[in-house]
Amino acid sequence: MSVSQAKRARTALRTAVALALLGAFYLLPWLQLNAQPALLLDLSARRFHLLGFTLQPENALPLLWLVIAGMAALCLVTVLFGRLWCSHVCPQTVLTRVFRGLDRLTTFDGPASSFGPILRHALWVLISLWTGISFIGYFSPIGEILADLLQLSLGPWQCFWIAFYALATWANVLYLHEQVCTHLCPYSRMQHLIADARTPTVQYNARRGEPRGPREPGSLSALHRTRGLLDPTTASDYVFRAAHPAIAGALPKFNPAHLGDCTDCGHCLSVCPIGLDIRNGHSSSCIECGACEDACDQNMADNHFPEGLIQRMPAPLEEAASGPRLKPLLFAALMLVALALMIVTARAPQ
Ligand code: SF4
Ligand code: SF4
Repeated sequence: MSVSQAKRARTALRTAVALALLGAFYLLPWLQLNAQPALLLDLSARRFHLLGFTLQPENALPLLWLVIAGMAALCLVTVLFGRLWCSHVCPQTVLTRVFRGLDRLTTFDGPASSFGPILRHALWVLISLWTGISFIGYFSPIGEILADLLQLSLGPWQCFWIAFYALATWANVLYLHEQVCTHLCPYSRMQHLIADARTPTVQYNARRGEPRGPREPGSLSALHRTRGLLDPTTASDYVFRAAHPAIAGALPKFNPAHLGDCTDCGHCLSVCPIGLDIRNGHSSSCIECGACEDACDQNMADNHFPEGLIQRMPAPLEEAASGPRLKPLLFAALMLVALALMIVTARAPQ
């Protein structure tokens, strides 16, 4: 059974955003506007070329206010809609998606199967190198870098930075993803300051899913049986007992009429880049990539159950605080003030 239009739309949006960002990142160093590079941070000349404008040191103040306004806008989007930055825009997420695509493209059956990993890693090394060259192309004209590279006359610093960014790309996506998201990323570490009790997060619906367990083919969803949704306390109790068998003891074997919709297939856990089990509740380490949501939707579709056992949603009403939300107002006000100051400082005589 195929998955729903909602999931296809979600995947299409993520793919479109990823392609747009990758296209912008790799093409911008090559583009010219008004006979100037579209984006070049020329540090030695103390000059930034930005989409047809040339910014000098005296433009630093308006630029700083623009950056602050952008950060306030990001906080505003985050508190209202969740970590869309992590799931759609973060370079690490986008490049991880590229690597997973390569993984699928280079997985072969039969005698060619051993060739797949070699091809995959060779392609990934090339992409990492090209990412390093493109990144340096934001600081030094990329045409000149490429000409020097072809003539083997790159300077030591250019070699160092290209190798550094290529290595960072390769290691980040393949080995350090979880550590960077959990321990290094400032945006991730500041989530408790940015989000509020009503910010949507990716959640498992324990009232529908518990008690979990495998079931016979042809079983009906809990939503289509008289059992319906469990009350929140009973559902939390099942989750706790499943997560802490050493304390709570093993779960009994439930009869099929009592089981929830989680078939305990473990797919949500196996696809999570952070290694979380979303069924244990929301974790601040969750980057809301939606991988568990997609994996569970596929399992629901295979079992002919409605999708959405895991999905992005606001906190349950019983947990969310009522009353006006202060953080969105604060971030919106900060964004507007920063934009106003940017305009004022840009117009002020130098
Ligand atoms: S629990 Fe894991 S897979 Fe699910 S959204 Fe969070 S980080 Fe992604
Ligand atoms: S993917 Fe869905 S059905 Fe499978 S274990 Fe996770 S929550 Fe349960």
